[in-house]
Amino acid sequence: MSRMMRAILALCLAAWVGQAQNAGKLDIYFIDVEGGQATLIVTPAGESMLVDAGWAGVGGRDAERIASVAKSAGVGELDYLLITHYHLDHVGGAPEVVELLPVKTFVDHGPSVETGARAAELFARYERVRQKGRHSIVRPGETIPLRGVEVRIVASGGEVLRAPLAGAGQENPLCRDEKRRDDDPSENAASIGFLLSYGKFRFLNLGDLTWNKELDLVCPSNRIGTVDVYLTTHHGMNTSGPAALVHAVRPRVAVMNNGARKGGTPEALKVLRSSPGLEDIWQLHYSIAAGQQLNAPEAFIANLEENCLGDWLKLSASPDGSFTVRNGRTGYSKSYGPR
Ligand SMILES: [Zn+2]
Ligand SMILES: [Zn+2]
Repeated sequence: MSRMMRAILALCLAAWVGQAQNAGKLDIYFIDVEGGQATLIVTPAGESMLVDAGWAGVGGRDAERIASVAKSAGVGELDYLLITHYHLDHVGGAPEVVELLPVKTFVDHGPSVETGARAAELFARYERVRQKGRHSIVRPGETIPLRGVEVRIVASGGEVLRAPLAGAGQENPLCRDEKRRDDDPSENAASIGFLLSYGKFRFLNLGDLTWNKELDLVCPSNRIGTVDVYLTTHHGMNTSGPAALVHAVRPRVAVMNNGARKGGTPEALKVLRSSPGLEDIWQLHYSIAAGQQLNAPEAFIANLEENCLGDWLKLSASPDGSFTVRNGRTGYSKSYGPR
Protein backbone atom coordinates (compact mmCIF):
# COMPACT_ATOMS: atom_id res chain seq x y z
CA MET A 1 0.00 0.00 0.00
CA SER A 2 1.38 3.37 -0.97
CA ARG A 3 2.04 6.02 1.67
CA MET A 4 -0.68 8.15 0.03
CA MET A 5 -3.24 5.33 0.28
CA ARG A 6 -2.37 4.78 3.91
CA ALA A 7 -2.78 8.49 4.67
CA ILE A 8 -6.19 8.55 2.96
CA LEU A 9 -7.31 5.45 4.86
CA ALA A 10 -6.20 7.00 8.16
CA LEU A 11 -8.19 10.15 7.38
CA CYS A 12 -11.32 8.14 6.52
CA LEU A 13 -10.96 6.13 9.71
CA ALA A 14 -10.63 9.31 11.80
CA ALA A 15 -13.77 10.79 10.22
CA TRP A 16 -15.66 7.54 10.79
CA VAL A 17 -14.59 7.35 14.45
CA GLY A 18 -15.60 10.98 14.93
CA GLN A 19 -19.07 10.23 13.60
CA ALA A 20 -19.39 6.98 15.51
CA GLN A 21 -18.79 8.77 18.81
CA ASN A 22 -22.02 10.65 18.33
CA ALA A 23 -23.85 7.85 16.57
CA GLY A 24 -27.18 7.07 18.11
CA LYS A 25 -27.30 10.30 20.12
CA LEU A 26 -29.96 12.99 20.05
CA ASP A 27 -28.40 16.36 20.88
CA ILE A 28 -30.28 19.35 22.29
CA TYR A 29 -28.43 22.65 22.68
CA PHE A 30 -29.96 25.27 24.95
CA ILE A 31 -28.46 28.47 23.60
CA ASP A 32 -28.36 31.51 25.87
CA VAL A 33 -30.37 34.37 24.36
CA GLU A 34 -30.81 36.29 27.62
CA GLY A 35 -34.29 35.16 28.53
CA GLY A 36 -35.67 34.24 25.10
CA GLN A 37 -35.64 30.84 23.45
CA ALA A 38 -33.20 29.25 21.00
CA THR A 39 -33.09 25.48 21.32
CA LEU A 40 -31.22 23.54 18.64
CA ILE A 41 -32.13 19.89 18.17
CA VAL A 42 -29.82 17.65 16.12
CA THR A 43 -31.12 14.14 15.50
CA PRO A 44 -29.02 10.96 15.25
CA ALA A 45 -29.69 11.05 11.48
CA GLY A 46 -28.13 14.53 11.34
CA GLU A 47 -31.37 16.43 10.77
CA SER A 48 -31.79 19.72 12.62
CA MET A 49 -34.59 21.80 14.09
CA LEU A 50 -34.13 25.16 15.75
CA VAL A 51 -36.90 26.12 18.16
CA ASP A 52 -37.10 29.92 18.13
CA ALA A 53 -34.48 32.44 17.11
CA GLY A 54 -33.90 34.67 20.14
CA TRP A 55 -34.17 38.46 20.11
CA ALA A 56 -33.71 40.86 17.23
CA GLY A 57 -30.95 43.43 17.24
CA VAL A 58 -28.17 43.80 19.84
CA GLY A 59 -25.78 43.70 16.88
CA GLY A 60 -27.09 40.32 15.72
CA ARG A 61 -25.96 38.81 19.04
CA ASP A 62 -28.47 35.96 19.20
CA ALA A 63 -28.18 34.93 15.55
CA GLU A 64 -24.39 34.81 15.97
CA ARG A 65 -24.66 32.69 19.11
CA ILE A 66 -27.04 30.30 17.32
CA ALA A 67 -24.83 30.08 14.21
CA SER A 68 -21.75 29.41 16.30
CA VAL A 69 -23.40 26.53 18.15
CA ALA A 70 -24.81 25.20 14.86
CA LYS A 71 -21.33 25.25 13.33
CA SER A 72 -19.85 23.31 16.24
CA ALA A 73 -22.68 20.79 15.80
CA GLY A 74 -21.89 20.42 12.10
CA VAL A 75 -25.17 22.07 11.08
CA GLY A 76 -24.87 24.32 8.01
CA GLU A 77 -28.57 24.67 7.28
CA LEU A 78 -31.72 24.07 9.30
CA ASP A 79 -34.21 21.42 8.22
CA TYR A 80 -36.81 23.17 10.40
CA LEU A 81 -37.15 26.49 12.16
CA LEU A 82 -40.06 26.15 14.56
CA ILE A 83 -41.39 29.46 15.87
CA THR A 84 -43.41 28.81 19.04
CA HIS A 85 -45.08 32.26 18.94
CA TYR A 86 -44.53 35.77 17.66
CA HIS A 87 -42.92 37.57 20.57
CA LEU A 88 -39.70 39.51 20.17
CA ASP A 89 -37.61 37.09 22.26
CA HIS A 90 -38.64 34.12 20.05
CA VAL A 91 -39.27 35.34 16.49
CA GLY A 92 -37.26 38.58 16.67
CA GLY A 93 -33.98 37.00 15.61
CA ALA A 94 -35.48 34.99 12.71
CA PRO A 95 -34.46 37.38 9.88
CA GLU A 96 -30.87 37.49 11.19
CA VAL A 97 -30.68 33.73 11.74
CA VAL A 98 -31.88 33.06 8.18
CA GLU A 99 -28.99 35.21 6.89
CA LEU A 100 -26.52 32.86 8.58
CA LEU A 101 -28.36 29.54 8.37
CA PRO A 102 -30.70 28.78 5.45
CA VAL A 103 -34.00 27.21 6.54
CA LYS A 104 -35.77 24.50 4.54
CA THR A 105 -39.14 24.55 6.36
CA PHE A 106 -40.67 27.11 8.71
CA VAL A 107 -43.15 25.73 11.25
CA ASP A 108 -45.58 27.94 13.18
CA HIS A 109 -49.11 28.15 14.61
CA GLY A 110 -50.60 30.34 11.84
CA PRO A 111 -51.49 34.06 12.00
CA SER A 112 -50.62 36.15 15.06
CA VAL A 113 -53.43 36.43 17.61
CA GLU A 114 -52.22 39.89 18.67
CA THR A 115 -53.29 43.13 17.06
CA GLY A 116 -51.63 46.54 17.18
CA ALA A 117 -48.84 48.12 15.17
CA ARG A 118 -45.90 46.53 16.99
CA ALA A 119 -47.29 43.00 16.82
CA ALA A 120 -48.18 43.46 13.13
CA GLU A 121 -44.70 44.76 12.30
CA LEU A 122 -42.99 41.87 14.08
CA PHE A 123 -45.21 39.33 12.32
CA ALA A 124 -44.69 40.99 8.92
CA ARG A 125 -40.89 40.82 9.32
CA TYR A 126 -41.21 37.09 10.00
CA GLU A 127 -43.65 36.53 7.12
CA ARG A 128 -41.12 38.07 4.72
CA VAL A 129 -38.32 35.67 5.70
CA ARG A 130 -40.72 32.74 5.83
CA GLN A 131 -41.06 33.02 2.06
CA LYS A 132 -37.47 31.80 1.73
CA GLY A 133 -38.49 28.22 2.56
CA ARG A 134 -41.44 25.91 2.79
CA HIS A 135 -44.12 26.71 5.37
CA SER A 136 -46.06 24.38 7.62
CA ILE A 137 -48.77 25.20 10.17
CA VAL A 138 -49.12 22.56 12.87
CA ARG A 139 -52.02 21.56 15.10
CA PRO A 140 -52.16 19.51 18.30
CA GLY A 141 -51.76 15.79 17.65
CA GLU A 142 -49.69 16.28 14.48
CA THR A 143 -46.01 15.44 14.17
CA ILE A 144 -43.03 17.05 12.48
CA PRO A 145 -41.45 14.51 10.12
CA LEU A 146 -37.93 14.15 11.51
CA ARG A 147 -36.44 10.69 11.00
CA GLY A 148 -35.84 8.46 14.03
CA VAL A 149 -37.42 10.80 16.57
CA GLU A 150 -41.01 11.85 17.16
CA VAL A 151 -41.95 15.49 17.61
CA ARG A 152 -45.59 15.46 18.68
CA ILE A 153 -47.41 18.80 18.84
CA VAL A 154 -49.40 19.16 22.08
CA ALA A 155 -50.43 22.82 21.84
CA SER A 156 -50.72 25.34 19.01
CA GLY A 157 -52.71 28.47 18.21
CA GLY A 158 -54.62 28.29 21.48
CA GLU A 159 -55.71 24.67 21.07
CA VAL A 160 -54.33 21.84 23.15
CA LEU A 161 -54.22 18.08 22.72
CA ARG A 162 -57.67 16.57 23.31
CA ALA A 163 -56.85 12.85 23.33
CA PRO A 164 -54.15 11.48 25.64
CA LEU A 165 -50.85 10.32 24.17
CA ALA A 166 -50.06 6.60 24.29
CA GLY A 167 -49.76 5.48 27.91
CA ALA A 168 -51.15 8.75 29.31
CA GLY A 169 -54.65 9.86 30.30
CA GLN A 170 -54.61 9.16 34.03
CA GLU A 171 -56.75 11.36 36.26
CA ASN A 172 -54.62 14.10 37.79
CA PRO A 173 -55.41 14.64 41.50
CA LEU A 174 -53.23 17.78 41.57
CA CYS A 175 -55.89 19.64 39.58
CA ARG A 176 -58.07 19.88 42.69
CA ASP A 177 -55.66 22.30 44.41
CA GLU A 178 -54.88 24.42 41.36
CA LYS A 179 -56.82 27.61 40.63
CA ARG A 180 -57.37 28.85 37.11
CA ARG A 181 -56.36 32.45 36.38
CA ASP A 182 -57.70 35.13 34.03
CA ASP A 183 -57.51 33.99 30.42
CA ASP A 184 -54.42 35.23 28.57
CA PRO A 185 -55.26 36.83 25.18
CA SER A 186 -51.59 37.17 24.18
CA GLU A 187 -49.41 35.18 21.78
CA ASN A 188 -48.06 33.26 24.77
CA ALA A 189 -51.29 31.28 25.07
CA ALA A 190 -51.03 30.48 21.34
CA SER A 191 -47.52 28.98 21.70
CA ILE A 192 -46.63 25.75 20.02
CA GLY A 193 -45.76 23.10 22.59
CA PHE A 194 -44.33 19.70 21.73
CA LEU A 195 -43.16 16.42 23.19
CA LEU A 196 -39.99 15.07 21.61
CA SER A 197 -39.47 11.32 21.98
CA TYR A 198 -36.36 9.35 21.08
CA GLY A 199 -36.82 5.74 22.13
CA LYS A 200 -37.60 5.96 25.84
CA PHE A 201 -36.25 9.51 26.18
CA ARG A 202 -38.88 12.29 26.38
CA PHE A 203 -38.41 16.06 26.33
CA LEU A 204 -41.23 18.58 26.84
CA ASN A 205 -41.03 22.12 25.44
CA LEU A 206 -44.15 24.30 25.78
CA GLY A 207 -42.72 27.62 24.60
CA ASP A 208 -44.32 30.46 26.56
CA LEU A 209 -47.66 28.74 27.10
CA THR A 210 -49.47 30.25 30.08
CA TRP A 211 -51.27 28.91 33.15
CA ASN A 212 -54.77 27.97 31.92
CA LYS A 213 -53.55 26.33 28.71
CA GLU A 214 -51.00 24.32 30.67
CA LEU A 215 -53.79 23.21 33.01
CA ASP A 216 -55.93 22.30 29.98
CA LEU A 217 -53.18 19.85 28.96
CA VAL A 218 -53.12 17.96 32.25
CA CYS A 219 -56.57 18.54 33.84
CA PRO A 220 -58.71 16.74 34.69
CA SER A 221 -56.56 13.98 33.15
CA ASN A 222 -52.87 14.13 32.24
CA ARG A 223 -52.73 13.80 28.46
CA ILE A 224 -48.93 14.01 28.26
CA GLY A 225 -47.74 11.40 30.75
CA THR A 226 -44.26 11.67 32.25
CA VAL A 227 -41.10 13.13 30.74
CA ASP A 228 -37.37 12.99 31.40
CA VAL A 229 -36.55 16.60 30.69
CA TYR A 230 -38.79 19.66 30.95
CA LEU A 231 -37.84 23.04 29.54
CA THR A 232 -39.44 25.34 32.11
CA THR A 233 -42.35 27.03 30.36
CA HIS A 234 -42.00 30.79 29.69
CA HIS A 235 -38.43 31.09 31.06
CA GLY A 236 -39.59 30.22 34.59
CA MET A 237 -41.93 33.18 34.93
CA ASN A 238 -44.64 32.94 37.58
CA THR A 239 -47.47 33.21 35.03
CA SER A 240 -46.62 29.70 33.79
CA GLY A 241 -45.58 26.34 35.20
CA PRO A 242 -48.36 25.38 37.65
CA ALA A 243 -47.53 22.49 39.99
CA ALA A 244 -50.45 20.53 38.52
CA LEU A 245 -48.49 20.41 35.25
CA VAL A 246 -44.88 20.19 36.46
CA HIS A 247 -45.50 17.65 39.21
CA ALA A 248 -47.75 15.55 36.94
CA VAL A 249 -45.18 15.21 34.15
CA ARG A 250 -42.52 14.39 36.80
CA PRO A 251 -39.35 15.51 35.01
CA ARG A 252 -36.02 14.14 36.21
CA VAL A 253 -34.30 17.27 35.01
CA ALA A 254 -35.58 20.80 34.36
CA VAL A 255 -33.72 23.20 32.09
CA MET A 256 -34.56 26.87 32.56
CA ASN A 257 -33.99 29.30 29.68
CA ASN A 258 -34.01 32.36 31.91
CA GLY A 259 -32.01 35.56 31.73
CA ALA A 260 -30.29 37.29 34.65
CA ARG A 261 -33.39 39.44 35.17
CA LYS A 262 -36.01 37.59 33.16
CA GLY A 263 -37.83 34.48 34.31
CA GLY A 264 -36.11 32.42 36.99
CA THR A 265 -38.75 33.50 39.50
CA PRO A 266 -38.71 32.19 43.07
CA GLU A 267 -42.25 30.82 42.52
CA ALA A 268 -41.22 28.72 39.48
CA LEU A 269 -38.07 27.47 41.21
CA LYS A 270 -40.09 26.45 44.28
CA VAL A 271 -42.53 24.46 42.13
CA LEU A 272 -39.57 22.69 40.51
CA ARG A 273 -37.80 21.98 43.81
CA SER A 274 -40.91 20.35 45.26
CA SER A 275 -41.53 18.26 42.13
CA PRO A 276 -41.52 14.51 42.88
CA GLY A 277 -38.55 12.73 41.32
CA LEU A 278 -36.76 15.89 40.19
CA GLU A 279 -33.01 15.27 40.25
CA ASP A 280 -31.56 18.58 39.04
CA ILE A 281 -32.32 22.03 37.70
CA TRP A 282 -29.97 23.41 35.04
CA GLN A 283 -30.18 27.14 34.28
CA LEU A 284 -28.93 29.27 31.41
CA HIS A 285 -28.43 32.12 33.87
CA TYR A 286 -28.02 32.83 37.53
CA SER A 287 -31.33 34.46 38.45
CA ILE A 288 -30.83 37.68 40.41
CA ALA A 289 -34.43 37.61 41.69
CA ALA A 290 -34.12 34.09 43.10
CA GLY A 291 -31.01 34.66 45.25
CA GLN A 292 -28.47 32.12 46.47
CA GLN A 293 -31.05 29.83 48.12
CA LEU A 294 -33.18 29.03 45.11
CA ASN A 295 -30.66 29.14 42.26
CA ALA A 296 -29.06 25.85 41.22
CA PRO A 297 -25.45 25.23 42.30
CA GLU A 298 -22.97 27.15 40.10
CA ALA A 299 -21.89 23.98 38.26
CA PHE A 300 -25.42 23.73 36.83
CA ILE A 301 -25.60 27.34 35.62
CA ALA A 302 -24.24 28.25 32.17
CA ASN A 303 -23.87 31.98 32.84
CA LEU A 304 -23.16 33.44 36.28
CA GLU A 305 -22.76 37.11 35.40
CA GLU A 306 -25.39 39.39 33.94
CA ASN A 307 -22.83 40.61 31.41
CA CYS A 308 -22.03 37.14 30.12
CA LEU A 309 -20.36 35.33 27.22
CA GLY A 310 -23.54 33.49 26.22
CA ASP A 311 -22.51 30.01 27.26
CA TRP A 312 -24.84 27.10 26.46
CA LEU A 313 -26.04 23.84 27.92
CA LYS A 314 -25.92 20.68 25.82
CA LEU A 315 -27.96 17.56 26.37
CA SER A 316 -27.20 14.24 24.65
CA ALA A 317 -29.79 11.50 24.90
CA SER A 318 -29.80 7.78 24.05
CA PRO A 319 -32.82 5.65 23.10
CA ASP A 320 -32.63 3.75 26.42
CA GLY A 321 -33.67 7.01 28.10
CA SER A 322 -30.26 7.87 29.53
CA PHE A 323 -28.84 11.32 28.93
CA THR A 324 -25.97 13.65 29.79
CA VAL A 325 -26.08 17.41 30.34
CA ARG A 326 -22.96 19.50 29.84
CA ASN A 327 -22.21 23.07 30.87
CA GLY A 328 -20.50 24.95 28.02
CA ARG A 329 -18.90 27.41 30.45
CA THR A 330 -16.96 24.85 32.48
CA GLY A 331 -17.21 21.55 30.62
CA TYR A 332 -18.77 20.03 33.74
CA SER A 333 -21.21 17.27 32.82
CA LYS A 334 -23.55 14.93 34.63
CA SER A 335 -25.06 11.70 33.34
CA TYR A 336 -28.50 10.35 34.16
CA GLY A 337 -28.88 6.59 33.72
CA PRO A 338 -31.87 4.83 32.21
CA ARG A 339 -34.88 4.62 34.54
ZN1 LIG B 1 -40.50 34.37 25.85
ZN1 LIG C 1 -43.84 35.26 24.80
